Amino acid sequence: MQLTGNLLIGQQSVHGSNGSIKAVNASTGAAIEPAFGGATLADLDRACALAWSAFDVYRETAPEARAKFLEAIAQNILDIGDDLIERCMQESGLPRPRLEGERGRTVGQLRMFADVVRNGDYLGVRIDPAQPERKPMPRVDLRLRYIGLGPVAVFGASNFPLAFSVAGGDTASALAAGCPVIVKAHSAHPGTAELVGRAVQKAVKDCGMPEGTFSLLFDSGRDIGQGLVKDNRIKAAGFTGSRGGGTALMKLAAARTEPIPVYAEMSSINPVLLFPNALKNRGEAIGKAFVQSLVLGAGQFCTNPGLVLAVDGPDLDAFIAAASAALKETGAQTMLTPGIHKTYEGAVEKAASHADVTTAARGLEAKSGHQGQSALFVTTADAFRKNHELQEEIFGASSLIVRCPDLASMRELIESLEGQLTAALHIDEADYAEARSFLPALERRTGRILVNGFGTGVEVGHAMVHGGPYPSTADGRSTSVGSLAIDRFLRPVSYQDLPEALLPDAIKNDNPLSLNRRIDGKLQLAS
Ligand code: NAP
Repeated sequence: MQLTGNLLIGQQSVHGSNGSIKAVNASTGAAIEPAFGGATLADLDRACALAWSAFDVYRETAPEARAKFLEAIAQNILDIGDDLIERCMQESGLPRPRLEGERGRTVGQLRMFADVVRNGDYLGVRIDPAQPERKPMPRVDLRLRYIGLGPVAVFGASNFPLAFSVAGGDTASALAAGCPVIVKAHSAHPGTAELVGRAVQKAVKDCGMPEGTFSLLFDSGRDIGQGLVKDNRIKAAGFTGSRGGGTALMKLAAARTEPIPVYAEMSSINPVLLFPNALKNRGEAIGKAFVQSLVLGAGQFCTNPGLVLAVDGPDLDAFIAAASAALKETGAQTMLTPGIHKTYEGAVEKAASHADVTTAARGLEAKSGHQGQSALFVTTADAFRKNHELQEEIFGASSLIVRCPDLASMRELIESLEGQLTAALHIDEADYAEARSFLPALERRTGRILVNGFGTGVEVGHAMVHGGPYPSTADGRSTSVGSLAIDRFLRPVSYQDLPEALLPDAIKNDNPLSLNRRIDGKLQLAS
């Protein structure tokens, strides 16, 4: 499929005239054709105007029509075929099997949200029927449903060029909620963004959705991304990336005349806790499995295990020895962008030269310029407590093991951690009592607690939480993965004493959408 380098503004395809960006081959650093024209502020205004005018129509589309639209996007992505995988491999440096899997996840997410829309539970219908005879005051008729927040700005992730980019989790959940979406393409994969953008644009047309339901903009600087978040027609933003980028957008959103939520997924080091019995009985096996998780995707996962806490002693020495031996065998891998590679190398260098940190092992040396060499460091609980910088995320295959004097000090360290996406406990049955005592602190600090595994490999389902207290995300009350992600883009509206003729279908008496509803506080399942 021929790339145009064009902006997709509603059904238009126009070349942006505000500078240009080119993709970079992640392996070689060479620029790849074509040039993508940057959007002007006039392009931004047009996309926002279209999105705003689409909102009231799009959010009232029938559930079946909206579900079919999401399914059409999924099918159109599959129909791009191998061109999508080839282009994405060049731009991201990620290998084919990973990207084929990620495409499957992207399509699966869209289909999952189609089912969510058909099911209708997300509308959260509640009806408190009028009680005109109630004494001393009659009761009004009150009905509640959720509606979409409004047009949503989506900033795709560099590390998930399909599953968290143009038609990824943020876009799918916002569209499912009834919100038009404007995507600010990530500069690391503009070709991938155009291919997927055109798949969405085609689905909008084929499914008869309003034109402004979707637009895709390229930004040659920061004005368009920032302008999107500042535009008063945008009512929420979804973001995955750096802490600096996410907090910059949060500040802009908070400074608006009408502040809006920014759902930013930023930085997390995902502590792994090794409990004494598990460490003693299985330390070597855990060490090998830990390294497999650490180096997966060159360590470029938000759930990468960047911190290990354990009680010091011979069992921890054995774990470190096994992990070091495994790590020394791991090849360096191409990182997503030359910039991300440079940041990684700088952070590893800084850790290696830290006075309180020793290097346990390095992976095999890089064979080319943009490959990240994995790294394993060790420090003490005292040093970790005193040096806050040791808590900073190193985006890549690097982790820090902390030798704790005892379990009490390990628990204290948990209390000092920033908000995290995940925490992994390695326990045997004899560790249960100690592990239980850690749970309250872990619940306060993380979005997902898991046992005898690692946080990498996020299941897309109904019970998944991929979120957590700041700075892992901007708002720990939500998730960006799984069906609950739709809640981020909804808000409740109550209808008091509206005549039946004016009520939306979701809350009409005869329940034409066959929804499960809470009547007078009691859940009534649709027959
Ligand atoms: P990024 O620099 O934060 O960029 C993410 C997106 O936000 C891009 O579209 C970027 O635009 C835009 N952006 C960044 N700062 C902005 C600002 N101040 N104003 C407006 N827009 C802004 O993230 P990245 O390029 O994907 O990766 C860089 C670093 O982010 C990594 O080294 C890593 O530390 C972190 N990261 C973390 C995760 C995670 O899941 N925890 C995932 C990915 C990256 P451009 O495309 O124009 O740059």
